[in-house]
Amino acid sequence: MKTFAKMSTTYAPTLKEDPAEAELASHKLLLRAGMIRKTAAGLYSYLPLAWRSLLKIETVIREEMEAIGAQEMLVPMVTPGELWHESGRWEKYGPELMRMQDRHEREFCLGPTHEETFTDLVRNELRSYKQLPVTLYQIQDKFRDEMRPRFGLMRGREFIMKDAYSFDATVEGMQRSYNDQKDAYARICERCGLRALPVVADSGQIGGDTSVEFMAVADAGEAELVWCDCGFAADTEAATAGIAVVEGASGDLEKVLTPDCATIADLAAFLGVPEAGTRKALAIVTGEGKPAVVFVPGDHEMNDVKAEHAFGEFHLMSDEEIEYYGLVKVFIGPIGLPEGIAAYADESLRNSAWWVVGANEKDNHYVHANLGRDFAMADDAWVDVATAQEGDACPRCGKPLHGARGIEVSQVFQLGTKYSEAMGATFMDEDGKEKPFQMGCYGIGVSRTLQAVVEQHHDEHGIVWPVCVAPYEVEIVPLDAKGVVWETAERLGSELVGAGLEVVVDDRKERAGVKFADADLMGYPYQVILGKRGVSNGVAEVKDRATGERTEVALDEVAAWLAGKVLPQRA
Ligand code: ATP
Ligand code: MG
Repeated sequence: MKTFAKMSTTYAPTLKEDPAEAELASHKLLLRAGMIRKTAAGLYSYLPLAWRSLLKIETVIREEMEAIGAQEMLVPMVTPGELWHESGRWEKYGPELMRMQDRHEREFCLGPTHEETFTDLVRNELRSYKQLPVTLYQIQDKFRDEMRPRFGLMRGREFIMKDAYSFDATVEGMQRSYNDQKDAYARICERCGLRALPVVADSGQIGGDTSVEFMAVADAGEAELVWCDCGFAADTEAATAGIAVVEGASGDLEKVLTPDCATIADLAAFLGVPEAGTRKALAIVTGEGKPAVVFVPGDHEMNDVKAEHAFGEFHLMSDEEIEYYGLVKVFIGPIGLPEGIAAYADESLRNSAWWVVGANEKDNHYVHANLGRDFAMADDAWVDVATAQEGDACPRCGKPLHGARGIEVSQVFQLGTKYSEAMGATFMDEDGKEKPFQMGCYGIGVSRTLQAVVEQHHDEHGIVWPVCVAPYEVEIVPLDAKGVVWETAERLGSELVGAGLEVVVDDRKERAGVKFADADLMGYPYQVILGKRGVSNGVAEVKDRATGERTEVALDEVAAWLAGKVLPQRA
């Protein structure tokens, strides 16, 4: 029979002080509330309260997977090295892959993700197009020997992931499976109480996305995002935003002395123009070993990831290289570039006629440099390399973008035939031909999601669990551990459980202050406070943890009152 839990026997060792090892609010609170403990760097134990919340997140995931026909199963966490050799990832993956040998000196690794295992699983037994599509998933511990495990569950070495793999006969089929997962991922975030932005991580040749990351919005997030009210969202590294270029003033080309202008800020202040009206020049050596300069709007940065797409494995020139190629540091511009140096510019500058640029002479800049009149750019000189930032125009609707930081909680990918081809995973198609599967893979960081929820839902007193993932929905706080107050607490506990609620009773012989502080720290959505006076008047005080609102409710109405609040908020 279901009954209420008791705080006196719940293993939740709380901490009074903020643990020194933790930086993020969510990490501190999970430690302080007795929900997680570190076993070693990047290795955490989930204590009973956190585990209850985790299981709720898993339930949401399972329900959403079932709704789209994905089937749960489990493969070994340990993966034979030979499968990773087949896919080519044994060499590529680097030290994050925890490799080991068995007693026969055969190679294995701890799965950081399981494309190889699932591809191997189906390659000999999923034989016909008639059996497709199939999506398989598991919820399992993953291991990645992260260089810098940190922030508690955010970047662990061992962590819990839900990983799914879809197998389709056609590209269109794969896209359908992918879209189903993507939609399910959005619902999972929402049902877990997470405000998350779907960010295009990679876009395909025909315009649609082929990978999306779900980013929980949080100042503590590692990713830098831009988003728009129209629904557009992107990682600044990937975003192709129509940067609104500030036009320089028109006029005759003029060379001006600009000593002591080592930075764009100095230059803009000296000339009395906005930084955006100047042009930043970066001297690079491209992946092919060719010297080049790249111009971006003065108030923007060049993005390394984008630049790598454009130039291959480029590097910024050292001072020696700048000198060697005849360039003048700080004063580089498109007019009078030394022979053999290619000029590139960010896409956004294509429609900008008037530039403020270096004069390729020490202490000199040009103002009113006109594209077309004073210098030319080759047709293939326009590249998308500037980092999008807050205030840039939304590429979809043109409105200014908002900036935010995000925590990647999940990601969906269209893989195509990358693994099926490498590993010879084929099926017999309708036309009688053997074809490689069209695959997709989909991962949710389950443990990271748990902490992301806390990062989004807390205040100075502790965690503020959304009902859907709270370890318990209601805590009863009797201010007396004996007599009529205690008897009322026990009776009410049974009644609330009878009404279908998840209840814990703080039956400890502690001071009221201690109980209140712990209740706030652990973050149960509703606290039912029972004092001597209230009980003798037949009332309880119910506190809503999220709003702080306190309501007096008649004892015999508490169960119905709470059920009316809690049940609609369940995921
Ligand atoms: P990151 O860029 O944060 O390292 P990733 O892109 O390498 O993550 P994926 O391979 O996409 O991660 O894994 C799927 C999900 O697993 C991620 O979206 C994230 O939520 C979770 N995850 C990945 N690495 C970790 C980790 N070290 N600790 C906890 N969760 C993780
Ligand atoms: Mg990812």
